[in-house]
Amino acid sequence: MDASLIRLVENARLPRYTSYPTAPHFSTTVGPDAHAAWLRGVSLEEPVSLYLHVPYCRDLCWYCGCTTHALGRKERAVGYADLLLREIETAAAHLPGRPPVSHLHWGGGTPSVLGADLLRVMARLRERFAFRAGAELAIELDPRDVDTAFIKELAGAGFSRASLGVQSFDPQVQRAINREQSVAVTHAAADALRAAGIGAINIDLLYGLPYQTVANAEATAEEVVRLEPARVAVFGYAHLPALRPMQRLIPDAALPDAAERWRQSEAIRAVLEGAGFVAIGLDHYARPDDAMALAAQAGRLRRNFQGYTTDTATTLIGFGASAISAFADGYAQNEPRLPEWRGAVLAERLPTARGLRLTAEDRARRAVIETVMCRGEVDLGEIEANAELVRPDLRRLDELEALGVIERSGRRIALRPGCRPLLRLLAAAFDAYLDRSVARHAPAV
Ligand code: SF4
Repeated sequence: MDASLIRLVENARLPRYTSYPTAPHFSTTVGPDAHAAWLRGVSLEEPVSLYLHVPYCRDLCWYCGCTTHALGRKERAVGYADLLLREIETAAAHLPGRPPVSHLHWGGGTPSVLGADLLRVMARLRERFAFRAGAELAIELDPRDVDTAFIKELAGAGFSRASLGVQSFDPQVQRAINREQSVAVTHAAADALRAAGIGAINIDLLYGLPYQTVANAEATAEEVVRLEPARVAVFGYAHLPALRPMQRLIPDAALPDAAERWRQSEAIRAVLEGAGFVAIGLDHYARPDDAMALAAQAGRLRRNFQGYTTDTATTLIGFGASAISAFADGYAQNEPRLPEWRGAVLAERLPTARGLRLTAEDRARRAVIETVMCRGEVDLGEIEANAELVRPDLRRLDELEALGVIERSGRRIALRPGCRPLLRLLAAAFDAYLDRSVARHAPAV
């Protein structure tokens, strides 16, 4: 990579644009009243998505940037499922009826720590929402924390897709991030899922971890190919110890620099593309016959809080501590602190802590940024009506063009071939909030 590009990448701290405006710009101007009004306004004609957050894990991985806590006693998770049931009841009381559901996602944390209680929550959701036939039910699983009986129960409850965290199979990397997970355990989880009928398996990988190298990143990617996933997500590790204290346990000196991170992401790309996967958006790969690859090809790919998705619902209702809901008029985030979330739920109040009301400019910029993140290009001629609202940062665009990252022809702006890991740099040119949040985001590569 060119030296000036490396400098640009090292200096850039950019959002992942899973929403726009991004969560650091949420404020307490949105609380339970706005959240309740937005729930009352949910259409019963359009499908919604549901997200459930479980903020517990058996042990904490030191690289983790998720809202989660070490489990401690099993009873904590049992109590959590009961609280989710209460929160669902409180939210459902504001809904105008039973909205249809097209997608559901359990994330965390490690949702499987709820065990059979997760199925009680699913049963309640089916009472309060009208799940469409063929709705996609997905769950994030830790291969170290699932057994065959539980997987069979998930299949019986209608789950069809599972995401397995891998990150790296290299033992030194695993020790340095406190996540020791054997190849055998991971294969066993994938085999059990397939045997139970949950055939759509996603794998999450990281690059830029301590002691990660091009060679061990390649070896991990090759092993992942042998797991035969439908999709692979490849994220750059975001080292932000000032914001995530657990990351202080990771020695700075063991981390690769921007150029090495680039080489690792390229090495993983080469292995996956060589095995027939199609690159999608910033950081996803899919089998050519997978729904995500087909959606990308047809221009139907979307981006939401879970990353790239085939989900076209415009309303997302989140449950659990820190969960974010998205409505036509704005975002509402639940209280991330467990005692506060629990207190609100027990008092039968919506546990909304903060959020954001979308302005016309936010909506217009959101559409452009989502287009950039999903397609790697945007034609400003197609948004003529909103041109005044979506003025890009021309200085940034000029800089990216001079560096060979983008090309412009007429009003079309496109990332150049080979620059996919730099996609966020193009999206950032349309972000009106960026300069207010520079230090809080991950490196651009
Ligand atoms: S299992 Fe997942 S959510 Fe839990 S600490 Fe590790 S990376 Fe974070």
